Amino acid sequence: MKRKLKAFKNALWVFHVNSGSCNACDIEIIATLTPRYDVERFGIRLVGSPRHADVLLVTGPVTKPMAEKVKMVYEQTPAPKVVIVVGGCGSTGGVFQDSYNTVGSIDEIIPVNLYIPGCPPRPEAIIDGVVKVIKSME
Ligand code: SF4
Repeated sequence: MKRKLKAFKNALWVFHVNSGSCNACDIEIIATLTPRYDVERFGIRLVGSPRHADVLLVTGPVTKPMAEKVKMVYEQTPAPKVVIVVGGCGSTGGVFQDSYNTVGSIDEIIPVNLYIPGCPPRPEAIIDGVVKVIKSME
């Protein structure tokens, strides 16, 4: 898988999945994609379909209504693919842990490659996580 991922190191296309976030993590992802942070210098760009993506950026705990949809998006993303969880809720369930309406963390539903902690993580932390994935392909 590592060898195939090398092909993406100059153009990592990202699809954003909200599996039940409070939206603050999502706002930080949007901030990350603004010209202020200029993530295109790393070849990172947001795409509108998981079928075009190399990386899934997933936010939030997995709510019961979203569990099947998260699996479906993962299956629609062509291999090789990387899953990055953004925020404490996706990593552990966070403040929604044991809520009546959540299944838990993202890794209870799909395999995860990298966790970015924070509530929410700042754009610098999100960029750092994605760049670490790019470097791991070298
Ligand atoms: S980690 Fe914090 S900001 Fe992100 S979804 Fe959970 S509560 Fe919201």
